[in-house]
Parts: sequence; C-alpha cells; structure tokens
Amino acid sequence: MKKIFPLAIILLCMKLVTFGQADNAPKFAATITTQDLKKHLTIIAGDEMEGRETGTEGQRKAAAYIETQFKSFGLQQADQLKGYQQLYPLYQDSLISSELIIDGKTVESGKDFYSQATISETGKFKGKKIIFVGYGIDDSSYSDYTGLEVKGKIVVFFLGEPKKDGKYIISGTGRGSAWSFPGTGKKLAAAAAKGAIGALIINPNQPTFTTTTIESNKKSNVYYPRSTNGKMINHAILSHSFAGTIFTNNFDSLLKTVKAGQPLDKNWAFEKKVKVSFDYNKFRTTINASNVIGIIEGTDKKDEFVFLTSHYDHLGKRNGVIYYGADDDGSGTCAVIEMAEAFAQAKAAGVGPRRTVVFMTVSGEEKGLWGSEYYSDHPVFPLDKTSVDLNTDMVGRIDTERQTADTLNYVYVIGHDKLSSDLPVINEGVNKKYTNLVFDYKYDDPKDQNRIYFRSDHYNFARKGVPILFFYDGMLKADYHKPTDTVDKITWELYEKRVKMIFHTAWEIANRDEMLKRDIPLTEGTR
Ligand SMILES: [Zn+2]
Repeated sequence: MKKIFPLAIILLCMKLVTFGQADNAPKFAATITTQDLKKHLTIIAGDEMEGRETGTEGQRKAAAYIETQFKSFGLQQADQLKGYQQLYPLYQDSLISSELIIDGKTVESGKDFYSQATISETGKFKGKKIIFVGYGIDDSSYSDYTGLEVKGKIVVFFLGEPKKDGKYIISGTGRGSAWSFPGTGKKLAAAAAKGAIGALIINPNQPTFTTTTIESNKKSNVYYPRSTNGKMINHAILSHSFAGTIFTNNFDSLLKTVKAGQPLDKNWAFEKKVKVSFDYNKFRTTINASNVIGIIEGTDKKDEFVFLTSHYDHLGKRNGVIYYGADDDGSGTCAVIEMAEAFAQAKAAGVGPRRTVVFMTVSGEEKGLWGSEYYSDHPVFPLDKTSVDLNTDMVGRIDTERQTADTLNYVYVIGHDKLSSDLPVINEGVNKKYTNLVFDYKYDDPKDQNRIYFRSDHYNFARKGVPILFFYDGMLKADYHKPTDTVDKITWELYEKRVKMIFHTAWEIANRDEMLKRDIPLTEGTR
C-alpha cells in the first residue's frame, strides 16, 4: 500500500513533463513582456509597413523585419530553404490585345465587346457556329445544357442565375450560388467540359461599357495560381446592342426575361451559323510572396515538430489610407516573434525543447489563406511528424460583446474537440497551472455560423491531419478590417497573458514523451 501512493503521485505528475526536472517554463515565459510586444507591434503595424498587403513592398518590409528578429535571437533557417523565407509565386495578368472578328468584320473593341485580363488564357479560337445556352449553368437542380450539343461550337450566355418566387433556384436562398460568384469562371469551365471552344457573354446589367470598366479589366488583381474551376475556354463580353445583332430571337424581350431572373426554357433556344474568330494575348508577371520560417532545433526528438503560426499580411493601403492591422494580425505576428525569443533563450540556457519548434509567419491570409495553403502543399517538414499547429490571429483586443471587467480575462479557443483528444487536456492543464484565462469554446459549437475552424490558416494544417488550436479575441466589429485597427487600442496585459498561455502550451507539447495522438476524425459538422 505504501508503495502505491507515491506511484499515483508520479502518474499524476507525468501529465505535465516537468516531472523529474526543474520547471523551466515560467522563467522563459517571463521574457514575453508587454514592453517587447509593444516594441515589435509598433513597427509591424506602423506607417512604414503600409498595411502589409501581400505582394507589395509593405509585405516584404514586414518579412524582412521578422527575419531580422529571428536571426538576432539565434533561430536557424530550415535546411531545405535558401534562407528564412519560403517564397511562393503569385501572378498578375495584363491584357496586351484582343481581337474579335464576326463574319469577316472586326467588332469594335471597347464599344461592342471588351476582354478581361482575369479568367481568359492567352490563345485563339475560331468557329463556325454559335449556340445560345441561357445562363450557361449546368447544375444538378437546373441545367441550361439539357438536350443541347455544344461540342466544337461557341456558346453564348448571360451572367446571373434564375430565381423562383424571389429565391434563387440553385441556392434556394436570396443569395446566388457559385454560378453567380465566381460565376464567369465556373460557367466557362462548364462549357469547356462539354466541348465548347469559346464563349460570348452578355452581362444583363451592362448594356454599354464605360472607360473605367474597360481599363480596370485590362489588369488583374494579384492572384494565387490555383485552379478551382478546371480548364476554361476563352471569352469576350458583348454590349447589348451588338448582341442584338447576332441573336435570332427577340433580344429585347429575352433581356427582360433575364433581368426578371426567370428561367429560360427551350423557346429561347437558337443555334446559328456565324464565323467567329477571337485572338487574345496577355502578359503574366510573377510576384514572389513569402512565409517567414525560423526554427529552434529540438534535442532528442528533433525530427518531430511543433508549429507556432500567424499571418503577417494585412489589407495594405486603399486610396492612400493605411489599414494598420495591429490586432489582425500584427498581434499574432508579434506573439510568434516573442515566443521565438523565449524558446531561443531556453535553448541558449541548455534547456531547449525536445522537439523542433518552427516559428512561421505566413502571408496571403487576407487574400484567401495563400501562404498557409502553399506551405501545407509544399511542407518543409513532414506533416505526419508535425505534432501540432498553434495558430494565433487577433489576440490583442477585447470582443465587442465583452466590455465589463469580470468578463475580460478570456480568449476564444477553437479546435479543442477536433483531431486530437490531447489538445484540451494539455491546453487547459497549462492554463490552469500558469495563466488562468477563461477559455471560451463557443466557436467550436458545430451550429456556429462563423465556421472559424475552416476559415483561417490553421485549417491548412488540419485538412492534412495535423491537430491545431486557434487562439482568437473575437469579432471587433467596429474596427475589424478598418483603418482604425491600430496599436493604441491593444489591451496589453491581456495580450501578454494570452501569449504566455500559448507559449506554455507549445512548451508542453514540444517536451512531452509522445506526439499528440490523432484520434478524432475531422468532420465539417452541421452548417
Ligand atoms: Zn487575420
């Protein structure tokens, strides 16, 4: 009996790794200070970084700053990379020329048709037949293609989608489906899949083209080369008056039907012999964006990894106004910088982590999680040896819903019930021991409309099976994605406490005997 008692205590203590050695974590957590966080955030969310929009000079300056910090702490670069930055390509397209010839006559560019640098691929198409395909939709609940053979022909269709009783037929709601947005690309891909060779498109709400429309379409936004639609065919957009000349049915009453959002039945169908030739050229510029990566190499488990991530990009500058993104996600970026310093000091003191800790600030988040998507598709370290990703996006402020003092000691934790049952045990354990924040799991409710788990960088780890926790301060409705998300609004004491809690969680996961078990399948839950 006497021998069992100490054993029980031993088992209890083994829950946290501090058993058998001094608990070094608090000493290094103490290096995470408001003063340091403020110093870094004032620069990251300062004028010089110009809002850190991905693909701009501001983003590159922020990357350089983070890299300099990592180096100064003594972090190593990943062997597989040439430096501290994992570069990934972005594209921007500019229209050079487009020419449309119908029945031997050159159609007047800018008046009767125009072309978009987005979507169209450089190339030509030549055909002898046009065929009207209504809205150009091919969905399980509604198809404009039923009974039509479009192979080798040029399809003609309207943008938009039909409604019934005020609701869109496909989405069943007051909002259009993916056939409305992104719309054109999806329709061009559907036509390509059916063998059409080109498309002439009519926007029901755009009878003629303004100079602004034509000019703004000559250059695409910077984009991530990802083809969600599949192969697309080339297209030109027609003015209403010109479209009227090639339609055989009554174009004006057809247009009325489309504007009313009515489905188009076979009475509107037509197919016609018309010689169409389209020649389109664009120029593609490649712009490099980056994820900044620094590591603290582990000791006896250095081939296993613990990730601390955040996004360092924000919305940039619009009409001369800087979107500072102090909380979003300057706060997470500086949290990663401070945690890197803390782990580096532990390593220098001879008590570095057992697993390799990877500090990664990504870009492209605000544009569509580009940097984390690129990383998870081109991982520098094996994802099956990556124990966890602890992602931090907005941890420096207070929720709109919480304004009274007794509710302010909180953080939203997302992902605690997904992928690994170890997550809440460890995270709550260290919090209870060191920081005593209130964890709010409301965003993990499967009924929550925000679906935050699926909407930020950590999801790119989760979709590959890596357990994640995401730390977040809530929706700051008044300042979210506004120029007013500034450094002076940060709640420093709470911010510092949250970062310390994340540090302790990382420390524990980096030092325990086993990687996190992966015992819960990832499901989307009810939406
Ligand atoms: Zn963010």
